[in-house]
Amino acid sequence: MKGSNVNNCTVVVFHNTEENIQSTLDSLASQFDNVIVQTSKNHIIEALKNQQQYGTTCTLLLIDAESCNLRNDRECPDLLLNVVSLLEDKTLTNVVPIVCSECESPPFMVKCLQEGAADYLLKPLSEDVIKTLFLNVTRYKRNRSKKTLDHLNQVNRVSEPEDQHEENDTHSKGEVWLKFKERLKGVFHEHWLSKLVADYYTPKPSVRRSSMSSMLSDRKEFLKAQICSWEFLPLDLDFKDLVQIVFMILNQVLTTFDELEPLRVSDADLYHFIFDICNFYHGTNPYHNFKHAVDVLQANYYFLCKLGLLEPMCSDCELLSNNNSGTQNTQNHHDDGIPSIQKLMKPLDIFALLMASIGHDVGHPGVNNSFMINTSTPLAILYNDKSVLESFHAMSFYHLMQSNCFRKLTDLRANPEYSTFRKIVVNSILATDMSMHDEYVSKIKDQAERLRKNEIDFSDASVCEKEKILLCGALIKCADISNCARPFESAKRWAKILAEEFFEQGDLERELGMPVLPINQRGKIPLTDFQITFKRFIALKLFVAVTEVTPEMQFTVDQIHANVDIWESMKMDECKHLKQQQQQPQEQEQEQEQQQEHMEKDAVTPNNVPPEPSVED
Ligand code: 5GP
Ligand code: MN
Repeated sequence: MKGSNVNNCTVVVFHNTEENIQSTLDSLASQFDNVIVQTSKNHIIEALKNQQQYGTTCTLLLIDAESCNLRNDRECPDLLLNVVSLLEDKTLTNVVPIVCSECESPPFMVKCLQEGAADYLLKPLSEDVIKTLFLNVTRYKRNRSKKTLDHLNQVNRVSEPEDQHEENDTHSKGEVWLKFKERLKGVFHEHWLSKLVADYYTPKPSVRRSSMSSMLSDRKEFLKAQICSWEFLPLDLDFKDLVQIVFMILNQVLTTFDELEPLRVSDADLYHFIFDICNFYHGTNPYHNFKHAVDVLQANYYFLCKLGLLEPMCSDCELLSNNNSGTQNTQNHHDDGIPSIQKLMKPLDIFALLMASIGHDVGHPGVNNSFMINTSTPLAILYNDKSVLESFHAMSFYHLMQSNCFRKLTDLRANPEYSTFRKIVVNSILATDMSMHDEYVSKIKDQAERLRKNEIDFSDASVCEKEKILLCGALIKCADISNCARPFESAKRWAKILAEEFFEQGDLERELGMPVLPINQRGKIPLTDFQITFKRFIALKLFVAVTEVTPEMQFTVDQIHANVDIWESMKMDECKHLKQQQQQPQEQEQEQEQQQEHMEKDAVTPNNVPPEPSVED
């Protein structure tokens, strides 16, 4: 018996593409006595049954997903489903199916496991992975026997809370649980959440983990300087840079605050989580893509530094210059001299706001809530037309945390201390629904008033929770539309991209025979009007109100005014130009008439040569 193959198992590989897998087969052969490659699905089943007859203890079946002609990204390899059903009706025994694929999509991976795969391996299989492959036999057997037991207990496929807390919760299997079991069967069923997310969208990975290993430290320094500048513009950065930016921001917060020690994860896990987020954004959206998410994250990072809640990661930047520095120009101080904001926002709240920022538009389909509602999409039905997209973003983002290294944050039963974190993340994402804009603005004004009048009782935890949820909502709203407070050239580029997304929705609506609003019609509203209206009547109200709470944000109000001035002068130029164009034909006509008169006069003058025929003649 070779190496680690303590189970004395056979390996059957299903593979029928051009891909050269010789080195994988060599590695497998170095660990297992019997390695068989099969190219036909029918033969595979036969081979598995034969293995049983020959008395093989166990067969590891490696299913190459790329050999299975998947019709779409969401489908599990049919061979897996076949084998699992044969295992279930006991036609097959002791087969451990494992999916191997180059697809890095987490929902796809989850789906394969849910459908019965023992493991999911990314190709090409490394030596190390092959060395531990045999462990799946033990693990799979254990899982299956547990499942059978569950089945006997008639709690089949229900993930009861006690699964995770068996040791420390002696009441969970008591009489009360039994009374509730039927009613709560579906309530604790996490699978349907994964299914919902996986059915909605299986992303094609746009970035791969392997690409991150080689970033030079110079580049990292450059990115740090960008992160600490209000001139930050992710539009010209590539995905590797964007992932690194998110990593540096989240990593800084996790590693600088002692309070966040329990949440620290390995670099690899954090990168993995960020890749998942990145891949869940639709890269084909002109505006609502990962770049917008990184932009919102950076805006909030910048605001938090301005408010003195974070140390800028760059040692020499505009955030450190005197008149900008964190707490100095804070007006809203509480009695004890500590700025109110600093009393309110704790490290976990800061982390929540930054997490909400990067996740706030995950899975955005590039059409707005009205479109979702007017076309009766299942998502609109699911969320009863209320903040449809935002509800979906918040749910999907929580699911991403759950299926990654931040599961702890999502398990309130085991960790009730994370309930405020959840409130901040969910409420902040929901606050980005622009249909609630005015409501938010007036709530922020009320908060400013309470601060001015010293009405907030900072010793009352529930009061503090409410106030900080509101503050985080205000900050993420500013960050979400921070485009219009960026330096003019950046603001203009973002505006064009957003307008393009609106137009693409309009194109679709027209094709579907739906009414199209002027804002979604190409060439209907000039970019200048689009921007002036939005900034004057929507953005300014928000930024002015937030500045009453956090005076350090005054620079945003100043920049919006400056941008409005530029758009106004551009509009004036446009108007002049238009007038000239309208006037020109009139003037030309008048000139021609005058010339004609002259010529006619001349013509009738005796001794004069008759006029030359005009060109048109
Ligand atoms: P998000 O959808 O990104 O969460 O929320 C931002 C929304 O604010 C955008 O979808 C868009 O409707 C609106 N918005 C942001 N910037 C602008 C802008 O410059 N002009 C207009 N008209 N709307 C904007
Ligand atoms: Mn957004």
